Amino acid sequence: MIKKCIHNSSLTLSEVKELAKVRPHEPFINYKGNNPWDYPPNDEVDAIKKKIRVDLEASQKVCGFCGLKLKGTSQGQIEHIAPKAYFRHPEFTFTLKNLVLACHYCNSPEKKGTKDTISIKKTIYSKCKFNIVHPYLDDPEEHYEWTDNEIELLIQVKNDSPQARKSIEIFGLDNPDMSELRAGEFRHSQLKTKYALLPADELLLEAALGK
Ligand SMILES: [Zn+2]
Repeated sequence: MIKKCIHNSSLTLSEVKELAKVRPHEPFINYKGNNPWDYPPNDEVDAIKKKIRVDLEASQKVCGFCGLKLKGTSQGQIEHIAPKAYFRHPEFTFTLKNLVLACHYCNSPEKKGTKDTISIKKTIYSKCKFNIVHPYLDDPEEHYEWTDNEIELLIQVKNDSPQARKSIEIFGLDNPDMSELRAGEFRHSQLKTKYALLPADELLLEAALGK
């Protein structure tokens, strides 16, 4: 299952103001062609960027696009939902609702990469129209439905949602490996809820499920 993401930010007003100052209106001129996300213009921005990561890790335990757990080899990469590349949407580089943790699979260049995710652009981020199911602005339950065949949890487009279709296409959400992993995680969460597992039991269960 894919759930709507929540981002609890701990940034102070002065930190938000600091970020607003580095919005890259002219990325080439100001930052030698590099986006200030990758090359923070000063230590303060670098420190705020680290704080954003801590906040995201605290509030988001699953990939914002496929809904699979972020753990093991990767705690997830910070992904810009609307790409920050200069030819896409650099002005949303530091927009908090544009930042989500994504697994290495969804974040790979072959999947999302710099593909455009905005179909109608507005000055205010939340007023833009996105062509994918947005991790914060959309409720996945309105876009996806699921079929459980015991081995896989299969994803399907609900209500003929074009955003769902696009997300499934870009991130390969109907890929058999992903459907199988999702079924395993779903089974795990069902058992956890049913038996209210203690942490030690949870480790045993994870080992039994081969996680
Ligand atoms: Zn993912």
